[in-house]
Amino acid sequence: MTARTQVGIVGAGPAGLLLSHLLALRGIDSIVVENRSRAYCEARQRWAGLLEAGTTELLRAVGLGKRLDAEGLEHGGIYLQFAGERHHLDFRDLTGGRWVTIYAQTEIVKDLIAARLAAGAQLEFEVSGTEVADLDQDRPLLRYTDAAGTRHEVRCDAIAGCDGFHGICRDSMPPGLVQVAERGYPYSWLGILAAVPPSTDELIYSRHQDGFALHTMRTPQVSRLYLQVPSDEDIERWPDDRIWAELRHRLVLPGWELKDGPITEKAILPMRSFVASPMRYRRLFLAGDAAHIVPPTGAKGLNLAMADVTVLAT
Ligand SMILES: Cc1cc2nc3c(=O)[nH]c(=O)nc-3n(C[C@H](O)[C@H](O)[C@H](O)COP(=O)(O)OP(=O)(O)OC[C@H]3O[C@@H](n4cnc5c(N)ncnc54)[C@H](O)[C@@H]3O)c2cc1C
Repeated sequence: MTARTQVGIVGAGPAGLLLSHLLALRGIDSIVVENRSRAYCEARQRWAGLLEAGTTELLRAVGLGKRLDAEGLEHGGIYLQFAGERHHLDFRDLTGGRWVTIYAQTEIVKDLIAARLAAGAQLEFEVSGTEVADLDQDRPLLRYTDAAGTRHEVRCDAIAGCDGFHGICRDSMPPGLVQVAERGYPYSWLGILAAVPPSTDELIYSRHQDGFALHTMRTPQVSRLYLQVPSDEDIERWPDDRIWAELRHRLVLPGWELKDGPITEKAILPMRSFVASPMRYRRLFLAGDAAHIVPPTGAKGLNLAMADVTVLAT
């Protein structure tokens, strides 16, 4: 049987969930299909956590600011360290009052899922076999199999591919339409989450002859730190003691101390830039990582994903 909706959304990441929320505020109905479970989406560490002022303002304006305001850490600048010195950049002073907020992507996803479910939205987790079809017609089709094994077809006025870099929507566009610009970088980041209060009030970006290091944070109790490593590096070669020693070595400054603690997660993250264009074929639209990837050095992808769907919803 074929159902109807106005907008079919593939992917319950930040882009898909926020799009569904923004459409609902305009009285437009949607269905979101997601191939992972709700628990998986809410626990998935996407590592992102730096929100630009525009993103924070958007979330507040659409009723999603409560926990963000209570738990987010507002920063008015960053430290840049090089040649043995640490310099503070005052964003508020330099940009006419702008700031950034530290609030993890996982928390945004939890807030969005809670808001959508409270509003009675149709959110289908654990789907399989997602397909988009009839893309050359005025009412494209979204097909999926739900968690109970029932196959569904939904006729849509438009479909939004918010299914990330590995999703199916980009590849569903007609062959030859999408042009890709891509660049891989000859280094990766080794990232850790550690159960220790941050040793700094604002982020430290450190340039060092042995490679870059970044000290950031998630909460007043949880630190996040990164080390630049070769792109083919093996995480097995980095026991916790070696990670802390190297972080100390690259972040060292007389009179300043890096506190260490238990490492709760660690991973090697490759660096890639990727842009697919156009982001639209008739009534199929791409948004967020489905269309573009910025390396995590930029702390930008989540902010871009949210900016995309703000434009798309309008
Ligand atoms: C180390 C690191 C640090 C980062 N730091 C920052 C930061 O500080 N600030 C920032 O702005 N960004 C940051 N980013 C980037 C940010 O995490 C991503 O840009 C963001 O997740 C994009 O959101 P999205 O909704 O477009 O895609 P995703 O989060 O990838 O969501 C896509 C969803 O679609 C689902 N899906 C996929 N295929 C299907 C299918 N066939 N059917 C149904 N569902 C499907 C997936 O399961 C997923 O839930 C960072 C990234 C990394 C790796």
